[in-house]
Amino acid sequence: MDMPTAGQPLLAHYVKKILAAPVYQLAVRTPLQAAPALSQRLDNQVLLKREDLQPTFSFKIRGAYNKLAHLSEAQKAGGVITASAGNHAQGVALAARELGIDACIVMPESTPELKVIGVRSRGAQALLHGASFPFALEHALKLARESARTFVSPFDDPDVIAGQGTVAMEILRQHPGHLDAIFVPVGGGGLIAGIAAYVKYLRPQIRIIGVESEHSACLQAAMAAGEPVMLPSVGSFADGVAVAQIGAHGFAICRDYVDQVLTVSNDELCAAIKDIYDDSRSITEPSGALAVAGIKQYVARNGIKGQTLVAIDSGANINFDSLRHVAERAALCGASA
Ligand SMILES: *Cc1c(COP(=O)(O)O)cnc(C)c1O
Repeated sequence: MDMPTAGQPLLAHYVKKILAAPVYQLAVRTPLQAAPALSQRLDNQVLLKREDLQPTFSFKIRGAYNKLAHLSEAQKAGGVITASAGNHAQGVALAARELGIDACIVMPESTPELKVIGVRSRGAQALLHGASFPFALEHALKLARESARTFVSPFDDPDVIAGQGTVAMEILRQHPGHLDAIFVPVGGGGLIAGIAAYVKYLRPQIRIIGVESEHSACLQAAMAAGEPVMLPSVGSFADGVAVAQIGAHGFAICRDYVDQVLTVSNDELCAAIKDIYDDSRSITEPSGALAVAGIKQYVARNGIKGQTLVAIDSGANINFDSLRHVAERAALCGASA
C-alpha cells in the first residue's frame, strides 16, 4: 500500500502504525510527572515526560525497536548499520541484541564516551568516524551500499517515527484532561513528527511546539524555506540533536502540524538542566533539557499563565565530567531567572 503524502490520511496512517508498534518488548511506559518548583515559578503547570528513564536513558529505543521488528527475515539475517550521535546507536544496539540481529554503528568522533561504551556493552560494533553527525551519516550510507546490511535512519523512517510517536499515545492516556501544549526537542524530527501525528489526529487543539538548539535549528530553516535544507554547520553541545537537515518523512508532518518552533541557547539549556534537577533530582543531557528551556522562553515571551504544558525530557546520556561545565554556566546565567 502506498503511503499517503499529507493531511488527515497521513496522520491516520501514522496513528495506526503507532497503535500497532510493539515497543513495549523493550521500552517502558515512562511517568508523566509534575515539576512543582518550576510550575510555581512560571505560574503554569509544567509536566515532565520522563523519557530519560528508558533503558538506554533516552526514547530512541522506541523507534529503533519498532524499525528492527518490522524488518524481513532476510534483512534481519543481513544485519543493520546506522549512524547516530549516540542515543539512537544505543537503542539500535539493544534492539538488535534483543532480536538477534548483527549491528554496526557509525558515530561522530566527538560522541561522549559513555554513549560509545553504551553501544559496545550491548554487543554492537561501534565505528567512530567524522567530526559531526553528517559525516558519520555519509560514511554509514557508503558502508550500507557496500554490504548486505540494512541502513536504519535515526529519524527519517516511518517505522522510527511511529515508534517515537508512542510517547504521545502515553501522554494522552496519562493526562486525559486539558492540555495546552507539548514541547518537543528536535534533532532530525522523528520524535516531533510521531508526536504531532498522533496528537493532531486525536486532540488537534493541543499545540505542538518544537524546540531546537540555536546551533542546529534545521526544522526552523526548513519551515522558512518550505523544504528541508542543509545547515552549513552544526554545533554539538546538544549532541543528541546535532543534525544538519530535517528528515523528509518527518517534515511532511511537521510543515502542517507543528504550530511553532523555538530555538534556545546553550546557556538556556544549562539553566534548564538545573531546573529539572531541582524538581526531579535527575540529570538530563543538554538535548534532554531543550523542551524545558523552550517552555521557559515561551512563557516569558508570551506572558502565559495558568496553562498546562508538557516537556519531553528526552535523555540523560551526559558524561559525568561535563557536569562541571553545565553547573558553571547555569550559575552564571541564573537558573532561577
Ligand atoms: C534524538 C534525540 C532528540 C531528537 O529526536 P529527533 O527524532 O532526532 O528529532 C532529542 N533528545 C535526545 C536526548 C535525543 O537523543
